[in-house]
Amino acid sequence: MTANPTPTANPTLNPTPTAEPTPVDPPTAPGVRLRQADPARVRLLPGPFAERAGHAAGVYGGLSPADVLKGFRRNAGQPAPGNDLGGWASRTTEATFGQWVGGLARLAHTLGDTTLAARAVELADGWAATLPADGDARMATYGWEKAACGLVDVAEYAGHQDALRALSRITEAAARTFDRTRSPATRTDRDGRLPYGTLEWYTLAENPYRAFTLTGDTSFRDFAELWHYDAYWDAFATRPEPGQPWDVPVWLHAYSHVNTFCSAAEAYVATGDRRMLDIARNGLEWTAETQSYATGGYGPGEWSVPDDGSLGRALEWRTDSAEIPCDTWAVFKLTRRLLPATGQAAHAELAERLLFNGIGASLPIRPDGRSYYYADYRLGGQSTKLRHWDAWPCCSGTYLQAVAAVPDLIFWPSDDGIAVAQFLPAEIRWSHAGQEVTLRQHTLFPETDTTELRVESDSPVTLTLRVRIPSWSEGFGLRVNGEPVAGWDAAYGWALVTREWQPGDRLQVTLGATLRAEAVDRFHPERAALLHGPVVLAQEGVFSSPFALPGAAADPTLLAAALTRVDPDDGDGPFAPRLRYQPTDRGAEEQPVGPFRALAGVKERWPHRVYHDLNAPRFL
Ligand SMILES: [Zn+2]
Repeated sequence: MTANPTPTANPTLNPTPTAEPTPVDPPTAPGVRLRQADPARVRLLPGPFAERAGHAAGVYGGLSPADVLKGFRRNAGQPAPGNDLGGWASRTTEATFGQWVGGLARLAHTLGDTTLAARAVELADGWAATLPADGDARMATYGWEKAACGLVDVAEYAGHQDALRALSRITEAAARTFDRTRSPATRTDRDGRLPYGTLEWYTLAENPYRAFTLTGDTSFRDFAELWHYDAYWDAFATRPEPGQPWDVPVWLHAYSHVNTFCSAAEAYVATGDRRMLDIARNGLEWTAETQSYATGGYGPGEWSVPDDGSLGRALEWRTDSAEIPCDTWAVFKLTRRLLPATGQAAHAELAERLLFNGIGASLPIRPDGRSYYYADYRLGGQSTKLRHWDAWPCCSGTYLQAVAAVPDLIFWPSDDGIAVAQFLPAEIRWSHAGQEVTLRQHTLFPETDTTELRVESDSPVTLTLRVRIPSWSEGFGLRVNGEPVAGWDAAYGWALVTREWQPGDRLQVTLGATLRAEAVDRFHPERAALLHGPVVLAQEGVFSSPFALPGAAADPTLLAAALTRVDPDDGDGPFAPRLRYQPTDRGAEEQPVGPFRALAGVKERWPHRVYHDLNAPRFL
């Protein structure tokens, strides 16, 4: 994607106020101290993401604990009733077990679902009971890292301290037994597994750092320090000079080489080391600037790519354009750590792309473990949304985690008020200056171009309400109870209103989403996806002609003349933003130019096109 989240150089940040903006004093970094909201105090209001959360609770909460634990119990010589789950979980559920446990704990926390929380605890305890006396989980680095995440999550979100005792045992054993070669990944060993199968060892630090932050137990920190990925992280310690390319290692496993930045982010949270923050921040910006498609998904063929046109070229043949659930999960975690650390609204943009076009456009998990994995953005032909060929892959774990983490991303309390970073229907209750306040966001975005924030409190409350000004916005505007207001912190990308809010006061926001074409990379200026604001539009591919419009990426007025917004039809559901554009040129009688709808509205197996060569329609 070409959206540039670099706050110091944000040429696309061009809001058009409805009234003269009030200048804000230049802030000292960070301009605003945002805090992570307790997700238990955030509630998703009815909408696609609330629906997904409920659905995921049913599927993962509906798994039989005996089935999930069967392989571990069999290996431990214990009675092992139930059935193996198949696919990646044929022998044990090691590849995803920790993600399921952690995801269930998170989901239970956000839904306030004690039954679901009890299930997460039951699974964690059942698994811990299969550990041998020496604490060696007999897991490779890949499964161990996920188990550690699950145990920290069960402690943090379900309040189950026994999980930390189990984590302490397996950490002590891992410190004793894990091979410490720590091979930097290369093109021929892209996840650093050689010579002893330690794949993705460079993601191991994240959760032990979280455990250290949670407990202060230095043995977790000492273990985390073993897995710093200096050979890679050092390359991200500074951004390139403006106009210069990123000089960083590429042709490596994509998702895990973004996920490793979460280890740097947690190192920053645990130790305050600013260098770790710089690495995490630059890692997110590099991902957004050079690795991501318009959807926010990255890693064609699961490769990180050089900034030389490889991203655009991959659209010519690869059907595995991006590993959506895993990609989404890594970016959500990075965003969660970066927004409080930098205060930069732009750091929420890649997460927004993945909300609407990544996890939000994926197929829901099926109870038999068939899971959405790769998105297919291939040019010209008939891409379809399919689930992975094998049951219970990595993305079945990250799907649950990403869906459960959506409430983390929306509201960000600060000392002086609260910030709204994502435009999703949701509400938060939080304590501001000793007073309980509810902020409710009503929005049908992107079907409508507005969001409304309603302040509810027992008595008037003085606070600053910040709203992210998206880089895609043309015509952003604010009204309080219908009256235009303006004020923003341009350096950090927030619109803001400070006032005494009466109970029921409303801040109405015009978001300014418009139609545009976004080139895949600078080497392919005519190879583009069409977007409405952050929402990627997919072209109908059933007996239809492709779309072409030379120059549209450079000149959005061409697009405005070529496509007309029309009412959605019944096909635009169930997880769909109901958004639809009709080409004015209908094309051939038997193969008309296909209409466009939000990618999230494309049904399973339904032919569609995400990218287009605007100057070279691919009829054949
Ligand atoms: Zn995956």
